[in-house]
Amino acid sequence: MEISCTPDENVFDDGDWELIDALVRVFSSMFHIKGHVTVLDDTQWKNYMTNGETPAEKKKTEAEIDSLFGQADTETNSIWLNPRILKRSYDQLVDTIVHELLHIRFPKDSEEQIMNKERKLIGRFDTLRKQRWCYV
Ligand SMILES: [Zn+2]
Repeated sequence: MEISCTPDENVFDDGDWELIDALVRVFSSMFHIKGHVTVLDDTQWKNYMTNGETPAEKKKTEAEIDSLFGQADTETNSIWLNPRILKRSYDQLVDTIVHELLHIRFPKDSEEQIMNKERKLIGRFDTLRKQRWCYV
């Protein structure tokens, strides 16, 4: 039997989830978000976002999701974080959690307004703009 010690880079492990849960709890409290924010995993988020789609539509939607840092759903107070980008990239993980929670806190704000709020909070927004990944 072969035992692999290589971490799976495509999923968050228990330690990642512990960190994510703590950051979401603390930031949610700091941002005065009412109610609990749920963090969905990859499978849950893709099932939710592609509900009712045809197989071809699902494939397209899932590819779009894979290209994002994360997403927020203000209707259900839930967020998703992309493990393929954010696992072991703690700066970006923290920034993305802040960004997605701002969407939950200010559901009517435009993407630009959210980005302005994010920039004020994290102070390193300019470096993210140069990357090909984008927030939604
Ligand atoms: Zn956004």
